[in-house]
Amino acid sequence: MAEVLIYVDHVDGAVRKPTLELLTLARRIGDPVAVHLGPGAEEAAKVLGEHGAVKVLAADAAEFADYLVVPKVDALQAAYDAVSPAAVLVPSSAEGKEIAARLAVRIGSGIITDAVDLEAGDEGPVATQSVFAAGYTTRSRITRGTPVITVKPNSATPEAAPAAGAVEQLSVSFGEHATGTKVTARTPRESTGRPELTEAAIVVSGGRGVNGAENFHVIESLADSLGAAVGASRAAVDAGWYPHSNQVGQTGKSVSPQLYVAAGISGAIQHRAGMQTSKTIVAVNKDAEAPIFDLVDYGVVGDLFQVVPQLTEEVKTR
Ligand code: FAD
Repeated sequence: MAEVLIYVDHVDGAVRKPTLELLTLARRIGDPVAVHLGPGAEEAAKVLGEHGAVKVLAADAAEFADYLVVPKVDALQAAYDAVSPAAVLVPSSAEGKEIAARLAVRIGSGIITDAVDLEAGDEGPVATQSVFAAGYTTRSRITRGTPVITVKPNSATPEAAPAAGAVEQLSVSFGEHATGTKVTARTPRESTGRPELTEAAIVVSGGRGVNGAENFHVIESLADSLGAAVGASRAAVDAGWYPHSNQVGQTGKSVSPQLYVAAGISGAIQHRAGMQTSKTIVAVNKDAEAPIFDLVDYGVVGDLFQVVPQLTEEVKTR
């Protein structure tokens, strides 16, 4: 069976969920071979093997942490040369998309970004994307070179599929551009204890209807009762009620959780662009004519300050 390269997103060997989702999708196309760069390969290999990685190509070098993306592209290309895979899959993070794009240029391949589903096809993998501010869903296939595809978090449920997952050392020589952009400082974001917005299985977002930073605790309480991330519309962010890092939409982050709850959000097309691929959408809005109700699975017409706290209490009792 053909092999499929998976770029591993991890923090010191702790594999992030989007990579496990990629392994599940990759198994529809071929045998997943994981590429682990940086420390913690042995630890990561256990989890990667449990989710179907037949082997783990590992390399560790100071360059991966000290310089932006190019050393990682050099290593991914070394893995590509070693394996000659049927496809290369990369998580759709900002870094992942840059790495994938650079690799595609180097190997002369087409690229599909932000896929939300993947299936095998007679002439290569077929990717599903949500495009034009989520106005259309497309299915497409790369016709030139080895398909390079980035996949959005929450596009699949990780499934266990025990495989060898044996670690093999990958030999990497860095090119002349590898040390072009040095990382001068890393400032970890203050932890809220909530899941990362783009990876969360549940997102609860507040909009202009929340009517002030001092009221966002209503949204946060529901999020915490569900173990969810907190999102915000641009109106709420522009008003200074919530950080830009939490903005969902065309000029914010794109999320695709199992459950998206929009409270006091009208459903403008630019907001929809960032959340329309959510599996189940719930809205609370006091205006029954709000456009958000056109795309919900469940809608509550009502004042969020009455509805959301009741919802929170109900969730807490379960
Ligand atoms: P509004 O549209 O003002 O809606 C507020 C809603 O709250 C209303 O439907 C109202 O009925 C309801 N409401 C009020 N009080 C209550 C209450 N007590 N209980 C229940 N419901 C209540 N927007 C984004 O979100 N993300 C983006 O990334 C983004 N990018 C953009 C990029 C461009 C180039 C442009 C032009 C716009 C962009 N926008 C984006 C802005 C977008 O067009 C909307 O202006 C914005 O999404 C509106 O936010 P909102 O729904 O919170 O506010």
